[in-house]
Amino acid sequence: VEEILSVENLHVSFRNQSGEVNAVRGVNFSLKKGETLAIVGESGSGKSVTAKSIMKLLPKHNTYIPEGKIYYDNQDLLALPVRQIQKIRGSEISMVFQDPMTSLNPTMKIGKQIIEGLKKHQGLTNRVARQKALDMLKLVGIPNPEERLDAFPHQFSGGMRQRVVIAMALACNPKILIADEPTTALDVTIQAQILDLMKNLQEKTGTAIIMITHDLGVVANMADRVAVMYAGEIVEMGTVDEIFYKPKHPYTLGLLQSMPKLHSSRKVPLIPIPGSPPNLAKKQQGCPFASRCPYTMKVCHYFAPEKLQMTDEHSVSCWLHDQRTPVENKPVAIGG
Ligand code: SF4
Ligand code: MG
Repeated sequence: VEEILSVENLHVSFRNQSGEVNAVRGVNFSLKKGETLAIVGESGSGKSVTAKSIMKLLPKHNTYIPEGKIYYDNQDLLALPVRQIQKIRGSEISMVFQDPMTSLNPTMKIGKQIIEGLKKHQGLTNRVARQKALDMLKLVGIPNPEERLDAFPHQFSGGMRQRVVIAMALACNPKILIADEPTTALDVTIQAQILDLMKNLQEKTGTAIIMITHDLGVVANMADRVAVMYAGEIVEMGTVDEIFYKPKHPYTLGLLQSMPKLHSSRKVPLIPIPGSPPNLAKKQQGCPFASRCPYTMKVCHYFAPEKLQMTDEHSVSCWLHDQRTPVENKPVAIGG
């Protein structure tokens, strides 16, 4: 399948009081046409920063990208002037955030907001844009769309507001939708409805989705492939089956063990991963997970593990799976 986006060796740094924080450290992935790629990890792992880099939405005053390329449509987005990015944003690549109000203007009627977007990005006339806005509201399941065009954002519930945002994001038939924790703020039932909606719309439109989430339940429901991020790096990547049934990285295993069982009505106590991620303001030596990993070996403290290809889609960065690690040094390895 054709690749439509390719992120190569992306590094993102912040400056704050304590100096420089390397929030994203050499991230590589590609997105295929029509697929859903989940980027999963704890907060602070760099997943949102990675997503925002694609759309140049990082705060300018304290963020910079020392290295990396993001190819879309044969051009490096990182090298494009803001004007051109603005053209792509919303029409070819859209974003949905956790808080729908990020994308909505509280003082403007919903209908007007959608219509303005359609006029700007697709050059539609008012009448055609209005009809399209109506169609979109219907498509995302907003009751009485005709009346709701004249309502303001605060007159919608949280779930309905996120539906409106999804309608806006998909109105221009983008090739890519980047969804950053789109359902995290919603209650579980609404969450499931919104995810179903996104899946249905994706089937109709063929839009590829990058789904940023800390929730493996969302991943299991939505993703074709999964990138697991830790401390600014992708530590494991694979198909959803490979990640859930043949996890190779101890961090992925930890995430899976801390996840409530799918299809279980009973709330099973979660096993959180002990410890906390490394301070990314400091220079990293060795494996970033070494201080929390139950399998840490001596080598892990000194040398960063290299990316190993396990199958066509499945890669992992961990010394446990590296042939160069002497067998006698290996603890009982996971996943063989
Ligand atoms: Fe654990 Fe070592 Fe693998 Fe890092 S490289 S995840 S510390 S076993
Ligand atoms: Mg985030």
